Amino acid sequence: MALDWQWASDYLSHGRKKYIRPLYDRGLYIWKENKWDPDSSIHVGWTYSGVTQRFVTYHKNSTTTIQALSPYPNNSWSPLRSYSTRFTIVRYAGLHSLIQKDFKFYIIESDPTQTPPKIQGCRKCKQSGLVNKYCGPTTCWEVNHHEDGTPYCEKHPNLVVSQLSPYHRWHYIPCEHDVQDGHNIPKGENCYYCNGTGKRDYGSKLERTLWDGSPLRIKDGKIIKSSASLLERMIADYVEPIG
Ligand SMILES: [Zn+2]
Ligand SMILES: [Zn+2]
Ligand SMILES: [Zn+2]
Repeated sequence: MALDWQWASDYLSHGRKKYIRPLYDRGLYIWKENKWDPDSSIHVGWTYSGVTQRFVTYHKNSTTTIQALSPYPNNSWSPLRSYSTRFTIVRYAGLHSLIQKDFKFYIIESDPTQTPPKIQGCRKCKQSGLVNKYCGPTTCWEVNHHEDGTPYCEKHPNLVVSQLSPYHRWHYIPCEHDVQDGHNIPKGENCYYCNGTGKRDYGSKLERTLWDGSPLRIKDGKIIKSSASLLERMIADYVEPIG
């Protein structure tokens, strides 16, 4: 069932009061903008101790307004930082998702378009297909101590076991490179970002739109074009930082 004005209107008409009703979903309420107007816009949000927060508003013309503004004036804290707020908007406005990244928020509309593939040299391995491999020593737990406290290992009699403390029960076994400490092997394994191919698709991402929580009109889970032109579209140029 599409969550739209018709759904909201039917839902209210089955309540005890005909203009406000709990949604039985994380404390949310649904209420009419104008109590006695049959064509009134209908809000979904929280209302508690005199504070009202609207997140989704259904209009009779089958468009929807989403917003996430602080209920307190001059407060820069965005309600979008709350997972519950994002979840509410996604669910009741039919978006694909709302994501948070570096304290910014992005809308991914329903049935999102994918940006075109953008195959480039892998930035992780600088196109070599290989990355450094960490080689760590293994541990042997067979250390015993002579009466004078000197440690020894019967399994590895040729190794000098250093005495760290009288209770020390273990020692490192050198790796195949004859090193006792962890070390890197330059270009020792296939790059996991590109599976060793040296090439990676930096495109094929869901198109996203930067959003600050100001009122935004959508229809069928998609931003209405005229409002979208006001927003910064984040398309294929988003890339992972070089690791
Ligand atoms: Zn040993
Ligand atoms: Zn090694
Ligand atoms: Zn790579």
